[in-house]
Amino acid sequence: MNKKKFDLCIIGAGPGGYVSAIRASQLGLNVVIVEANHLGGICLNWGCIPTKALLRSSEINHLLHNLDAFGFSAEKIKFDFPKIIERSRAVSKRLSGGIATLMKKNKVEVIDGFAKFLDNKNVIVSKDNQDIAHIEASHFIVATGARARVIPGLEPDGENIWTYREAMTPKELPKSLLVVGSGAIGVEFASFYRNMGSDVTLIEMAENILPVEDEEISKLARKSFEKQGIKIITSAALKSFVKSKEGVTASFEVAGKIQEISAQKVIMAVGIVANVENLGLEKTKIKVQNGRIEINDYMETAESHILAIGDVVGAPWLAHKASHEGIIAAEKIASNLGKYDAKKVHTLKKENIPGCTYSMPQIASLGLTEKKAKELGKAIKVGRFPCMANGKAIAMGETEGIIKVIFDEKTGELLGAHMFGAEVTEMIQGFVIAKQAQLTEEDLMQTIFAHPTMSEMMHEAVLDAYGKVIHL
Ligand SMILES: Cc1cc2nc3c(=O)[nH]c(=O)nc-3n(C[C@H](O)[C@H](O)[C@H](O)COP(=O)(O)OP(=O)(O)OC[C@H]3O[C@@H](n4cnc5c(N)ncnc54)[C@H](O)[C@@H]3O)c2cc1C
Repeated sequence: MNKKKFDLCIIGAGPGGYVSAIRASQLGLNVVIVEANHLGGICLNWGCIPTKALLRSSEINHLLHNLDAFGFSAEKIKFDFPKIIERSRAVSKRLSGGIATLMKKNKVEVIDGFAKFLDNKNVIVSKDNQDIAHIEASHFIVATGARARVIPGLEPDGENIWTYREAMTPKELPKSLLVVGSGAIGVEFASFYRNMGSDVTLIEMAENILPVEDEEISKLARKSFEKQGIKIITSAALKSFVKSKEGVTASFEVAGKIQEISAQKVIMAVGIVANVENLGLEKTKIKVQNGRIEINDYMETAESHILAIGDVVGAPWLAHKASHEGIIAAEKIASNLGKYDAKKVHTLKKENIPGCTYSMPQIASLGLTEKKAKELGKAIKVGRFPCMANGKAIAMGETEGIIKVIFDEKTGELLGAHMFGAEVTEMIQGFVIAKQAQLTEEDLMQTIFAHPTMSEMMHEAVLDAYGKVIHL
């Protein structure tokens, strides 16, 4: 086997890995990327994209069953569930294929196999138990992602107890479903299956669903989901599963009492763990702390020529965070090699990373929650605007939800934005740009928003924080 030499070897072709490969190639580096499964990683194949395709189908189902409000009627509305799953898989396949094209266009060599460090300069790639490539590189990026967390004793079996993978490719719609964990993944699956007609129960260990979100938003979301028929149990600790022919009975503890729920299927959505095993990290000085690779602000590990990005370096576990870290890592490496201005290499502003949940309605957030801002001792100004007072929202029949903003009273800095409502995952970007550009309350108040738009609610929420709201 010939040893091949590169400037940069990237391990893992998810949104972290493939984006860093393209950026590094743009900067003139000779790049190889090694991927053990599918180009595009979890995001394109088993995460962001296929779930959004499924959620689109469930939104359509919901709309079709609520046509009356818009002056339509239709009888015998039916859906073909396998076709809905097929569409989701086709969307994934199309995008994963697109990454192959992008790699070719950017002259990035792709190797299909599993990469492992031999030492801090060499990687061996294997496929079907055979070594297929030996790579030597001056720099590496580890972008191996993460997988579903498994609780010992409560392991998914792929049959009746699912991880997100099985939840995305069921043969038929389960009549009843228990979702364990109410982060974005759990809530999105609960929303999809409920809107397709399953009887859904969501249990959460924390006091509120969507525990990382602003409490006010979590509570509004809970009310809305319950109105849609999702049963929600919080402060619930899952204890055990008993499997039967009909499905699964789960025991869980709430306020010291054991309760039981039976469902045909269970989705375990209790977090994720970084892929740090079998990588040969022990052959390097890379440090793994609390199950994730330790890095500095420039994504460098304890071996400064080996960088790490994305889910493997920890929260927030989001595709856009992985991609942005990929850009930083590629530019840092190019600057090490004299191909990029070192002064232009920036660091990640974690407080400017938006988080989105694509349930119905959606949740989107940025920066500090009200509780966190108060805990930090900040004097704050809070503004709110409800969707039911917005003209476009009323015209669209999307009156559920609220926009909430939090400002630093002293400086006018936008500390946080929290949204619940239709299409808020698109709107949050307005606040992300404002925060990135360090706009103040005055700048936002002086900004002209098009009418009629849902984004006018963002303006009104800002005005509300300063007692100048117009349409309330
Ligand atoms: C159901 C679900 C829905 C999600 N929805 C969203 C969403 O809407 N928005 C969002 O921002 N995020 C979402 N996420 C999270 C998002 O998918 C991840 O944050 C993102 O994929 C992380 O990117 P990454 O590049 O770090 O890793 P990954 O996408 O996990 O890619 C890592 C790749 O590395 C490969 N690999 C691992 N080890 C090796 C090795 N030794 N050699 C070669 N290859 C290797 C893997 O096969 C994998 O393809 C979702 C996740 C799930 C599970």
